[in-house]
Amino acid sequence: MAATTDQIGRDLDDELHFISWNMNGLRTFNMSEVLTKRVGTMNCSILAIQETKLTRNMLEASQACVDDYSSYFSFSKNRSGYSGVANYCHTTATPIRAEEGIAGSNFQPAYKVDLPIAVGNYPDIGEDQSADAKYGDNDGRTVITQHVVIEPDGSEKLLNVINVYCPRLRDDPSDPVNNRQFKLNFHNFLTERARNMVKSGQFVVIMGDLNVSHKLEDQSDATDPKQFVHHEFRQWLDHLLSKDEESGVCFVDTFRSKHPDRPGSFTCWNTRLNARQNNYGARIDYILVDSWFSKYLRDAQVHQDIMGSDHCPISATFHSIRFKANTFIPRTASKFYAQFCHRQPKLNDLFKPSDVQAARTTAIQNEIDRKKRILKQSSLASFLVKKPKLEEPNLTGPENDQNSITKSTPNDGSSGFIKEVNAESVSAWRLLFKPPDTPTCTGHGEKCSLRTVSKEGVNVGRQFWVCPRGVGKPGDKNASCNFFKWVNSKAS
Ligand SMILES: [Zn+2]
Repeated sequence: MAATTDQIGRDLDDELHFISWNMNGLRTFNMSEVLTKRVGTMNCSILAIQETKLTRNMLEASQACVDDYSSYFSFSKNRSGYSGVANYCHTTATPIRAEEGIAGSNFQPAYKVDLPIAVGNYPDIGEDQSADAKYGDNDGRTVITQHVVIEPDGSEKLLNVINVYCPRLRDDPSDPVNNRQFKLNFHNFLTERARNMVKSGQFVVIMGDLNVSHKLEDQSDATDPKQFVHHEFRQWLDHLLSKDEESGVCFVDTFRSKHPDRPGSFTCWNTRLNARQNNYGARIDYILVDSWFSKYLRDAQVHQDIMGSDHCPISATFHSIRFKANTFIPRTASKFYAQFCHRQPKLNDLFKPSDVQAARTTAIQNEIDRKKRILKQSSLASFLVKKPKLEEPNLTGPENDQNSITKSTPNDGSSGFIKEVNAESVSAWRLLFKPPDTPTCTGHGEKCSLRTVSKEGVNVGRQFWVCPRGVGKPGDKNASCNFFKWVNSKAS
């Protein structure tokens, strides 16, 4: 942590800084860099991340053992490379307990109460809900860390940080949890667990990707207000944020409580459609706190300037309250996983390219191989068919590849035919490297972006041109004009 006071003299030791970020795959990140640079200026006490898309054996030391932080992961045991959440807790915020899952199905019923390692306050699970509880708890959707905080009067209280990745709203038949009842049950377990904690006198922070936008202003493409408010998952969030008559428990949306009217505060965009460019997105990431803890809320923010995922980080800061020091790190911390214990750096590690570099090298090699294959076919064709004269391209292929063509062509200097073929091959080669002429879009007159159809079907692999701008609200002149044109279309 940085200095104990800031420029205006606020005591930073008496501040709690929570950050939540759906990182959409942890493999491309070095967590030390994330915590010291990307979110480093926010003085992070606890970073809750979602969609690590890792299984336990994929976790690397750079993600599991970060200086000044202990981290607590939950991986999906149902599906590999799917969901996954983790809490990174600064040494000033070391938890006393950490637990996976929301329904406690791995602890119930035998250890329902007072197991020293369990966070407790589990929901009642009906017979018909037990399969969903088990599935949800093993799906890498929730991790809870429990901390001790000290209030201004010196009294100590338990604070539970529930990091959650709620099931998606989208109907996707290939998604095994595309089941309305599973989602409703998951939401209800979360509500009941969080309320039970508050009822037993504990503070609760729920942060993560709830996969639902709350109000009309939280979603760009909401067109039908009636349909919008009647969505049952949205009604669940409404229910969580309204006062429970029986217990008086109520949760507060930290961002909206500080910035009730701030428009365009989206946390997630469709990056495939470049929608972040025009801020055409949705606010589906939240830091919610119980109303008693909310009296310490100083501010909450959406950090749209921090890139790296299709979501941006969000944060909430609390004043006049501090974590109680705890030097005993729970054994469930990732640094205690067998694969990281007694780990000596191997010489190989120093020379091993990272997965990202390896993937990039493979992609480049594949592209070179593909172009060589096309050239081979093209060279053969040039022997058999008299081609129309090729226009001289401006762009040249890589120097080395041209040399390899010249060398591989038999050239005894006796035949003009061979020389001609040679020249044609080189031109054909050059053409292969020349990108197709870029059209301009009709709406803006700007050079288009080249895309490739990735969806399986008759057009898979086919290239097309689109307006270079990202999608946006209909009528937004700064957004895409929807220009579309196939590359190599017969009409052109
Ligand atoms: Zn355009």
